[in-house]
Amino acid sequence: MTAMVKSEGVHKSYGAVEVLKGIDLEVAEGEVFCLIGPSGSGKSTFLRCINHLEKINGGRLYVDGELVGYRQKGDKLYELKDSEVALKRRDIGMVFQRFNLFPHMTALENVMEAPIQVRGESKAVVRERAEKLLDRVGLADKARNYPSQLSGGQQQRVAIARALAMEPKLMLFDEPTSALDPELVGDVLDVMRGLAEDGMTMIVVTHEMGFAREVGDSLVFMDGGVVVESGHPRDVLTNPQHDRTKSFLSKVL
Ligand code: ADP
Ligand code: MG
Repeated sequence: MTAMVKSEGVHKSYGAVEVLKGIDLEVAEGEVFCLIGPSGSGKSTFLRCINHLEKINGGRLYVDGELVGYRQKGDKLYELKDSEVALKRRDIGMVFQRFNLFPHMTALENVMEAPIQVRGESKAVVRERAEKLLDRVGLADKARNYPSQLSGGQQQRVAIARALAMEPKLMLFDEPTSALDPELVGDVLDVMRGLAEDGMTMIVVTHEMGFAREVGDSLVFMDGGVVVESGHPRDVLTNPQHDRTKSFLSKVL
């Protein structure tokens, strides 16, 4: 089976600063892959590389068996055109710490926007899907509310529904609960748990170790732009092998 994401020696620098120093990892289809590590370790940068928001400087990165950013012909690599990149990005959903909903649109309109504008689907079809998705994230009764009328947790669940509206094959979560009041975190994690149960392939950058332990299939600890340790979440969290992992976990657990 092809991996959903395969990273082989991925390097990424900003100017002279090397942020990713050779990332090797593989995310299987249907897997919940948790990524943890201290601030500045390169977690967001890595997600942005997967989602074509950054260009890598070395190594190879594949999503669903296809090179990210390039087309290979023989030994040569050709950069993809913007229009080709845009097509590939449609298949990847991303949810950020800040929800970035369109403030002048209702929850339902936010969810409907991309399938109509980007994929050119019919309004009626998209509306039905969007209503189902809002129901799935527990917000059927908030469809007509504007973001300002929703709590942070509700806005984040709309953001998840909005990403799902494009029917992605991969979902990237970058600290989706970090900006939320503690009492709102659970509802968002429950939605993510449901997605996992439905078989969605997910890469989740999180500080929620309970979620990682209960829902995660794999866990990677990154520090300083490298993968320090990886394995089953229970093993890494209860029996870390490296001092850097131990030190990090002692601060967050
Ligand atoms: P994390 O998500 O693990 O906190 P990031 O991927 O956001 O880490 O950042 C890793 C490092 O890359 C940090 O030192 C950060 O300052 C640097 N960095 C991130 N984005 C940029 C950028 N656009 N330009 C320059 N440096 C950046
Ligand atoms: Mg980050």
